Amino acid sequence: MTEAAEGRETAGRGVRESEGAAAEATGEVGGMPERLRAYPEERPAAEVLDWAIRAFQPRIALASSFGAEDVVLIDMWWRADREVRVFTLDTGRLPEETYEVMDRIRERYAIAIASYFPERAAVEVLERERGFYSFRRSVADRKHCCGIRKVEPLGRALAGLEAWVTGLRREQAETRSAVQQVERDPALGGILKVNPLADWTTEDVWRYVRTHDVPYNRLHDRGYPSIGCAPCTRAVLPGEDLRAGRWCWERPQTKECGLHPVPGKGA
Ligand code: SF4
Repeated sequence: MTEAAEGRETAGRGVRESEGAAAEATGEVGGMPERLRAYPEERPAAEVLDWAIRAFQPRIALASSFGAEDVVLIDMWWRADREVRVFTLDTGRLPEETYEVMDRIRERYAIAIASYFPERAAVEVLERERGFYSFRRSVADRKHCCGIRKVEPLGRALAGLEAWVTGLRREQAETRSAVQQVERDPALGGILKVNPLADWTTEDVWRYVRTHDVPYNRLHDRGYPSIGCAPCTRAVLPGEDLRAGRWCWERPQTKECGLHPVPGKGA
């Protein structure tokens, strides 16, 4: 058995064992917290990422919006394995600075970045029937836009993968406070979701960026701790939380785009 196959075997066994333990404890196989506490234990980010790469390569990829966490993970992956598999969701509304950092990353690490675009026909209907700023009218309208520009392309990006890697951190938002380093994503067919930086602080992220001189989005220097689509992101004010600049007209509890649904709260 190859090392990668051994890793997948171990991963599958670990998840199955923890599913069984969770089912006994809670009576539900989908009981995420119990199941995921059991496997694997919290470990340093580089170890978790290395484990995931060895277990799932090439059926694993990093979903990157090229924020600080994502460029850390690209650098970390590159140090573990030069076959960095990274994709991005090009919504058509990204800031110029995001394209700039994507190109700097592409050149620095000599990697390809796979861009996934929304379905052309769906965007044409959205803009023709609802205008160019429909996402400001209501949470439902905003989720409709995110659904077309992000969630549907994510489904295509993940097709055929066994695991995906994200830069989610618990500290980022109320909606992310329960994020585990390794968890199943029931909203996306049960694919394994690997969040190596789950327990990192903002200071940890920037220490890594500076130590390894990782290219990063210039908007971070202009008060943007979290960067998404241009019309839905602003700089944060002193004292505001890290995601206050995302969909700033919404309450904190709704601030997810559907890529990372909060258990029990839908997408
Ligand atoms: S972040 Fe804004 S522009 Fe981007 S997909 Fe969501 S609603 Fe649409």
